[in-house]
Amino acid sequence: MLLSTCPTESELNRFNTDFDILFDSTIPFPPYGCQNGTGPDGEVNPKLTLYQGLRVIHALHFNQPLPWTELSLYEWLKGAIHGIVITDAEFSHCCAAGKQIVLKGDLLYQPDYQIWVNPQSGGGLIGLIGLIVHEARHAEIGGHTCGLDDATLEELGAWGTQSYLFLYLAENTPLAFFNQEQRQMAIQHSDTALARICNP
Ligand SMILES: [Zn+2]
Repeated sequence: MLLSTCPTESELNRFNTDFDILFDSTIPFPPYGCQNGTGPDGEVNPKLTLYQGLRVIHALHFNQPLPWTELSLYEWLKGAIHGIVITDAEFSHCCAAGKQIVLKGDLLYQPDYQIWVNPQSGGGLIGLIGLIVHEARHAEIGGHTCGLDDATLEELGAWGTQSYLFLYLAENTPLAFFNQEQRQMAIQHSDTALARICNP
C-alpha cells in the first residue's frame, strides 16, 4: 500500500533533516521523481528507492521492543547514524567519516526494490531495510567478530540484528502490515542472516 504511493513533501523533508543523504555527485544518478510509487515512466528511480525504504522504516512498529534497542526502528536509526552515502562502492559498508553508512548505488536500481518482496526471487525492499539496519548497527558496535560473520547471536552484531529484524517483521508486526507469504519470506531472510553467525 505504502509503496504504491509517493513520499509527501513533509516526509522527504523529514528524511533529509534526520539524515545527511548524499548521492555521489560524480555518478550520473537520475533526478528524483515519483509517480504512483515508482519512478516516472515506470523507470526504477534510485533516489525514490531509498526514500521508500526510509518510509517503511518510519512506518514500521512492533508489538514488543526490538532486541537491540528500546526505541522505534526509525528513532534508533536516527541515533545510530548521521547519514547515508550512495556511491559506486563495490560493497555497501560502514562507515564513512562521521557515522555515515555507504550503500552501493547499483542496488537501488533493482526492479524488485519497488515492491516489498518478490515471492519468486525473495528480493525486494525488505532486503534494503535489512541492509540499512545491518550497516547502521556497525556504526554502533563495530565490525564482524568471526571473519565476515558474527561469532554469536547474543552479541547482537550486524548479522544478529539483521536476523532479528526479519524475524520481528514476520512475527511481531500488526496483522494488517504483511500477508502470510510476506511473513514467510521474512523468516527466510532471517534464516539467511542467521547463517552468518558462527556459533548461533
Ligand atoms: Zn557487515
